[in-house]
Amino acid sequence: MHTFLNIPQNGLDLMNSLFHECCLCSVKMREGGYDFIARIGDEIIVIKDIPALICDTCEEVEYTLVVSREIDRIRKEFHAKRHQTGKAADSE
Ligand SMILES: [Zn+2]
Repeated sequence: MHTFLNIPQNGLDLMNSLFHECCLCSVKMREGGYDFIARIGDEIIVIKDIPALICDTCEEVEYTLVVSREIDRIRKEFHAKRHQTGKAADSE
């Protein structure tokens, strides 16, 4: 099962901290939307179009701190929800 989520775009100022080079191949990374996919239990969550820096050469992806915090928050939230709904089903 896939769940699609979105990060609110406001407040994620990508330009702020990063114009930076790829840590692996030292080329300038480009700004782009990235689909983050995480597995929680047997479910896949997809967070579409995260503002990220992408290296075209080696496909390294970097997020800002704000974005990774947001991802963390979404995952925790999702996990908590899943736990709540899972409880009723598990109590056999
Ligand atoms: Zn690279």
